[in-house]
Amino acid sequence: DSALFCLCRAGFEPELAAELSERAANAGHPGYARTQRNSGYVEFVVEDAAAASRALPWSALIFARQKLVRLADLSGLDPSDRIAPILAALDAYGEPVAFGELWVEHPDSDEGKPLAGLARSFGNALRPALRKAGWLSKHDDPRKPRLHVVFLAGDHAVLAQADPDDGAPWPLGIPRLKMHPDAPSRSALKLEEALLTLLTPDERERRVRDNMQAADLGAAPGGWTWVLMRNGMKVTSVDNGPLRQALLDSGRVDHLRADGFTWQPKRTLDWMVCDMVESPARVAERMATWFRENWCRQAIFNLKLPMKKRWEETRVCLEAFEYQTHRPMIVRARQLYHDREEITVFAAPR
Ligand code: SAM
Repeated sequence: DSALFCLCRAGFEPELAAELSERAANAGHPGYARTQRNSGYVEFVVEDAAAASRALPWSALIFARQKLVRLADLSGLDPSDRIAPILAALDAYGEPVAFGELWVEHPDSDEGKPLAGLARSFGNALRPALRKAGWLSKHDDPRKPRLHVVFLAGDHAVLAQADPDDGAPWPLGIPRLKMHPDAPSRSALKLEEALLTLLTPDERERRVRDNMQAADLGAAPGGWTWVLMRNGMKVTSVDNGPLRQALLDSGRVDHLRADGFTWQPKRTLDWMVCDMVESPARVAERMATWFRENWCRQAIFNLKLPMKKRWEETRVCLEAFEYQTHRPMIVRARQLYHDREEITVFAAPR
């Protein structure tokens, strides 16, 4: 059967399954999701997976780290020769079309992580065999469709295909970011990842500039403030908790001990970011107020998800946010690699 194969954070399979089911149905591609809790992936069975994939662009999916179109499900593989069945499965598709690259991966789950070594060595063995059979271009070509082998177990692999313009450009859908030794908290990685993944390179150049004015609501100990400051901004950091001294010493940061739900700026700021731990409905409503009142030109904020009905909560909060801004908005939401029980949203008026 034809299916999409998507990777996600382990534990969020039900959310991704619900998101795919609902959005595919709305786009005229009804199907059903097959998933196991904590497996780190979801398969979405649908009549025309290629068409469904085009109708569900990866950049618009919230809970999918990667989106692939499945070519074959190969179980019961013989560890002494896993290559022949892969070539046979490809041959079933007809004349060889050269894929641009081969990525051999595994889900980011307790069961999947131990397969990292196998994935690496198997990739090195499979690549020359694919080239010889005409399935892989002589030199890596990142513009061509990409072949994926995702190991679910030592004897079980999914063969899939990715459109390089419609998917994560990182293996496992995980952007590898290094924590800077000066960053006040690991949360800094969240905002860095958000700027990297929710904005295009062109938008980053236009929207993130020296001497912009920003506010950081729920700023302590200052990871997000630090990222904004490193991008050349002047930051008003709102939090009753303490900020790292180095931020205050920079001369670019004002610390306000105030309530992030009532504080408002005197004039329109370039950026507002918000990482307050509060109910997502309350945060979404406050974020909408900022845009309705024109207090900021763009924002990145986190919505902490409750334990239950997380997909429904996500949808309801994002719809309420957009509606309450009273204007056409760009809204991009994603569960980042560095997000745990939460999603991150970029928003700006259209
Ligand atoms: N983004 C920060 C960083 O990178 O270091 C971490 C923020 S931490 C997850 C959440 C912060 O929100 C806490 O420091 C807490 O004091 C603050 N907070 C919660 N409710 C708040 C409110 N009503 N007003 C201001 N800050 C609030």
